[in-house]
Amino acid sequence: MKKQFKAESKKILDMMIHSIYTNREIFLRELISNASDALDKLSYESLTNKNMKIKKKELEIRLIPDKEARTLTIVDNGIGMTKEELEENLGTIAKSGSELFKENMSDDKNMSIIGQFGVGFYSAFMVSDKVEVTSRSIHNDEAYIWTSTGADGYTIKEGERESSGTTITLYLKENTEEDNYDEFLESFKLESLIKKYSDYIHYPIRMLESHMDEDKKEEISEDKTLNSMVPIWHKKKKDVKDEEYNDFYIDKFYDYEKPLRVIQSDVEGRTSYKALLFIPSHAPFDYYSKTYEKGLQLYSRGVLIMDKCSDLLPDHFSFVKGIVDSEDISLNISRETLQDNHTLTVIAKSLETKIRKELEMMLNEEREDYEKFYNDFGMQLKYGIYSSYGMNKETLQDLLLFYSSRDKKYVTLKEYTERMVEGQDKIYYACGESLDKIDLLPQVERVREKYEILYLVNSMDEFVLKTMMNYNSTSFLNISDESLDLDSEEEKDSLKKANEDAKDMFSSMKEALSNQVEGVQFTHKLKNHPVCLTSKGEVSLEMEKALKEMPNGEGIKAQTIMEINESHPIAEKLKALYKDKNGEELAQYTKILYAQARLIEGLSLDNPTEISNLVCDILAK
Ligand code: ADP
Repeated sequence: MKKQFKAESKKILDMMIHSIYTNREIFLRELISNASDALDKLSYESLTNKNMKIKKKELEIRLIPDKEARTLTIVDNGIGMTKEELEENLGTIAKSGSELFKENMSDDKNMSIIGQFGVGFYSAFMVSDKVEVTSRSIHNDEAYIWTSTGADGYTIKEGERESSGTTITLYLKENTEEDNYDEFLESFKLESLIKKYSDYIHYPIRMLESHMDEDKKEEISEDKTLNSMVPIWHKKKKDVKDEEYNDFYIDKFYDYEKPLRVIQSDVEGRTSYKALLFIPSHAPFDYYSKTYEKGLQLYSRGVLIMDKCSDLLPDHFSFVKGIVDSEDISLNISRETLQDNHTLTVIAKSLETKIRKELEMMLNEEREDYEKFYNDFGMQLKYGIYSSYGMNKETLQDLLLFYSSRDKKYVTLKEYTERMVEGQDKIYYACGESLDKIDLLPQVERVREKYEILYLVNSMDEFVLKTMMNYNSTSFLNISDESLDLDSEEEKDSLKKANEDAKDMFSSMKEALSNQVEGVQFTHKLKNHPVCLTSKGEVSLEMEKALKEMPNGEGIKAQTIMEINESHPIAEKLKALYKDKNGEELAQYTKILYAQARLIEGLSLDNPTEISNLVCDILAK
């Protein structure tokens, strides 16, 4: 009976058949990579299952081109698949991707998404009319044959196979005017594809090659290993081309873009290891979600021990992909004992330093690359400081970037502090939803005339600075903090006096606001604007907004002060109203000013109708 593919799988299959990958030849890389995984799985099982004895040298992948039948067959003697696995694995697209795929099926960007999930196996349909998979699982004595001609579904029936493994036969498409599929039957073509894409595969990829022996005038066949089998991470950096690293990364880690940076490291010493790490150029779709799993592939002497060893990476560098190979990790180590393993801890520490240095180098030498990186992963670095209560501050603080009021470009804390003006002893920052909105904050105008301001547009940013407390002993100050002080001694004295004189007026204004503010006062912080809200103490207005979104954060409020520009005409107006004992109008003005200050801060009003009516009353006068 013919079975249908799951809906999403079918869509991908359609794409494959109509071949949107311009690069058809990668089908071979995909199938070889699956075969290699199957061999890895088998050798991994044999590590943990003592009853299974496999000699590593017996494991291989074989290519069998058949020109007469126009078939290309790829054979591995790996773990194989049961009937259920055939159905599950080849009838359904990679599980992780299907949800997102449903949402993104509509347009061209699919191409890139496809890469992300490694829909590897389906790529066989780019070159074949029919695909036949015969597989026998190591856990089973029966073999099954899965057959499909593409979109119309697949069948599974019983088959024969001597031992565990998988045989995939591709019935190549007919040649057309544009496309020649026969080339995938030519030994030299297959050999060059293996060299190009799969050279590092650490199992032999073999093929029988025949050629004429000129002396004896007869055709002789010899078994040839097509790949060098040296894992790419065992090679010296100078012997590997950039493209090889890139291809390896794309293939191994299912990305569609080459990495931003490649870190290669070969350490000999008390703990010896080789590592090949990649910094991706963009965050995977699920990076900031719970489904993302950090970790590096862990090998011992070229044999895969663990696919995602999370202990090798700190959370703040969880975006790094790569491989660690160490002779000092026992092949027989189990997943449980891997935790708290001393060797792993040593390697992880040393990798962390290497990653940090690489990022610093990128920051210093390739700023554009770094900013691209930061846009995607900066949040993780900041989170690393915040969530460790500042423990990782030293490691991460120089990797942070913030927008600057100067040119709205990114600046590091080091750059900021190095160009502080004389007499400046604080790092000033302002928070808001966007650069433009921060620019419009009333307080910004005057501070900016004197000092550079960091513009924090992410709700997490201020929490990060608060966690850090200071940068190399220069402390941070929110320009919306009540304690902001730009005045000279003289100006301070005169302001103090003005506030002293208006003390009673301010308490009646505070009363008019039903004590929603901690206080009302005159200020010199503002240049042209009449009014602003500032906060006192640990919680700023921006933090209040962010906390409101978090569980249990609802009740946490900033202590606010309404500050009125002493040199604005409104200050005189208020004083006059108070002097004339016009309490009612003073209260109205106060409410309107407070509403304005809240709106400017991006806070909502509790009483919009009342405010609107008040404004109209005054307009109508
Ligand atoms: P991916 O490799 O990204 O998981 P594929 O579509 O290439 O996606 O393969 C789907 C699944 O089919 C694999 O995860 C694997 O479990 C199984 N599979 C594919 N080829 C083989 C093979 N040669 N031997 C054993 N299992 C295989």
